[in-house]
Amino acid sequence: MIKFLDLQKINLQHQEEIERKLLEVFRSGWYLMGGELTHFEKNLSNYIGSKHAIGVANGLDALRLILRAYIELGFMNPGDEVIVPSNTYIASILAISDNGLIPVLVEPDTKTYNIDISKIEEKITPKTKAILIVHLYGRIIFSEELKKLAGKHTLKIIEDNAQAIGAEWNGLKSGNLGDAAGFSFYPGKNLGALGDAGAITTNDEKLNKTIRALANYGSNQKYVNIYKGLNSRLDEIQAAVLDVKLKYIDKENNIRRNIAKRYISDILNPKIILPENPEAEKEHVWHVFVIRSEKREELQAYLTEHGIQTLIHYPIPPHKQEAYKEWEMLPLPISEKIHQEVLSLPISPVMEEEEIQKVIEVLNRF
Ligand SMILES: *Cc1c(COP(=O)(O)O)cnc(C)c1O
Repeated sequence: MIKFLDLQKINLQHQEEIERKLLEVFRSGWYLMGGELTHFEKNLSNYIGSKHAIGVANGLDALRLILRAYIELGFMNPGDEVIVPSNTYIASILAISDNGLIPVLVEPDTKTYNIDISKIEEKITPKTKAILIVHLYGRIIFSEELKKLAGKHTLKIIEDNAQAIGAEWNGLKSGNLGDAAGFSFYPGKNLGALGDAGAITTNDEKLNKTIRALANYGSNQKYVNIYKGLNSRLDEIQAAVLDVKLKYIDKENNIRRNIAKRYISDILNPKIILPENPEAEKEHVWHVFVIRSEKREELQAYLTEHGIQTLIHYPIPPHKQEAYKEWEMLPLPISEKIHQEVLSLPISPVMEEEEIQKVIEVLNRF
């Protein structure tokens, strides 16, 4: 069976280094808010090019905390609107509604699967305060036009960078394009921890301070609480593991890029719609390699039968989820079509040449 993603193999590449770190933290007797976290935050902000990086408990918390901080700073209020792509993973949307803000869904472009920037302005109202862009599947969505639009309407640009760590746009890393960015280090992400983990990057000093307090019970001084905060921390074990793996992220993303290139040049089946490689290759880190087919269920069964594991990102669009039943009637035909047709092929930094070849051959015979 060719696994969709072999996490064990990915992490065992760094077995010696990671095990040494785990033992070191275990023996140190210090498990939260220590040197490993400080170290990782410093290395992450250096890597991204941002002034600040804040380790938090997971990617959803990262996004929740950014929006919550903008509320505490008076930039937005519950009831305000945040624009978000309609085909994103549910967490981007949960972060908005969890803060009492209103998600405003905008359809994606079928070529990139990212938000269609030309459809944003018509959704802007006096209540709109931010655009939450999502670099979906690992591909950057950003442009001068988007920046101008945000400037014109005084909107914050928040990046959901859960899937695109290491991607680059015009020499800038994703996570350093907007006003603040949320990262997820869920084990299956391109930079994955051994459990839940996340981070926020920003160049905004006030936002940094507010988020640090909010994530620590609303306190920036022990036993003094200025906000009704939460507890969202990145522990020392996860920080240490991530610090080891961060060193290899560029190398691993390049392996993903090479596999994507092979798939795009060698899968030659008219029944399959392939994703496009962006002109600037660095804009994509191929978190997932998503193809489309009108016969998706049949194709997935065929691949399983031939020993190739696939996943669907994602089977149900957010507006068709029980959790958001108030959106059931929203007309979002592009998202619905995408959700019916997408299928993600195996792609990872540890795929073997024979596995890549087999995926190509089996798909060409479909
Ligand atoms: C994974 C993911 C999240 C949430 O991250 P967690 O660490 O799982 O909470 C948010 N947005 C997107 C686009 C994701 O892929």
